[in-house]
Amino acid sequence: MLWAAGIKPNGIEGLQEIQMFRNGRLLVDEHNLVNESKNIYALGDLCLQQLPDYPKGHPQVAQVAIQQADNLANNFLAKLKNKPSKAFKYKNLGSMATVGRKLAVVDLPFIKLQGLLAWLIWLFVHLMAILGVKNRIFIFLDWSWNYLAFDPSLRLLIRPTYVKPKDREELIEDKN
Ligand SMILES: Cc1cc2nc3c(=O)[nH]c(=O)nc-3n(C[C@H](O)[C@H](O)[C@H](O)COP(=O)(O)OP(=O)(O)OC[C@H]3O[C@@H](n4cnc5c(N)ncnc54)[C@H](O)[C@@H]3O)c2cc1C
Repeated sequence: MLWAAGIKPNGIEGLQEIQMFRNGRLLVDEHNLVNESKNIYALGDLCLQQLPDYPKGHPQVAQVAIQQADNLANNFLAKLKNKPSKAFKYKNLGSMATVGRKLAVVDLPFIKLQGLLAWLIWLFVHLMAILGVKNRIFIFLDWSWNYLAFDPSLRLLIRPTYVKPKDREELIEDKN
């Protein structure tokens, strides 16, 4: 399956075009300060931070958002104490993805895994990342139910439909 959905931020009124990349992400400097602004900060998926190590910006993953939030919070505290701000540097901890029931891929700096063990590691890491024991228990029960009941309620199902070339042309004409 090809995942082709983009992540696009909601537009924010009052910002100028030059402060945004073409897909609407806010351009920020190494301190997550929005370009051409004095006190607007953006982080995570919403921003595009082009640094020498990441000239096209960081990947839109949770670790980037978490690490940028940590750095920005520390910079705000430093500011209160009149200390200098620290530029953001992304520490790539690796990637993981589930690709099916009992199937995942794990790509860490020290090990690469796939299959059942990778899937268990994915579950453990993501469960531990959730705040609060109560939330963890509820999410664990929810996952268990989905696993046992084959519950596809939150899954995206796409059925391929064939459109004849002639009909396709008509559709395009209608749109225009
Ligand atoms: C299907 C899918 C799977 C993913 N899997 C992974 C994965 O396995 N590992 C991984 O690291 N990353 C994964 N990601 C990416 C990860 O979810 C994001 O990188 C991460 O959530 C970014 O965090 P964020 O805080 O920047 O944005 P978000 O988590 O998107 O938080 C933004 C919040 O702002 C709210 N919001 C938006 N507009 C407004 C508004 N106008 N006013 C008020 N609130 C607003 C939104 O409702 C949302 O709660 C996945 C993303 C998707 C879509």
